[in-house]
Amino acid sequence: MDFPREFVTHSPKETAEVAGTLAAELTAEKGMGGELPHVICLYGPLGAGKTTFVQGFARGLGITGRLLSPTFIIVRRYGLGGPGFLYHIDLYRLHGIAQISDLGFSEMVGDPDSFVLIEWAERLGDRLPRRRLDVRLEETDDGGRKILVEKP
Ligand code: ADP
Ligand code: MG
Repeated sequence: MDFPREFVTHSPKETAEVAGTLAAELTAEKGMGGELPHVICLYGPLGAGKTTFVQGFARGLGITGRLLSPTFIIVRRYGLGGPGFLYHIDLYRLHGIAQISDLGFSEMVGDPDSFVLIEWAERLGDRLPRRRLDVRLEETDDGGRKILVEKP
């Protein structure tokens, strides 16, 4: 899989589709013994489209139903209909890095069957997993979104 990739979307639906396609690709390569990242870190200000991206990613994994924002709960977990989970983490209200360990963060990141999507991932500081994809969202002048997906 080739990175970096850049997209410009003009609606939440398009952003979700970009994410869904990525999810499908990552799933297809899973279990092929590759070095594929299953941790996806999302960056961008409030309203940039991070949650929208996670919703699209979840759809791409076949997760149906409403995806709630984990803002107050920090982590939400969704079954994948096989081994592993989609963990949706939002660190906006994180109270100090020590709270990360309480969440079982290492276990989530250490499970290659799971996907871990992290909003406000910069708050992880030096706990940011090395093997990951970074997704940077920003608003464009005409109200769209630029989405950069890169492998650091
Ligand atoms: P975040 O999680 O980064 O705070 P959300 O995904 O919750 O952002 O919200 C993004 C907001 O921006 C939504 O209200 C959505 O309707 C709007 N929006 C407008 N254009 C786009 C786009 N191209 N992609 C994603 N969201 C968009
Ligand atoms: Mg959000």
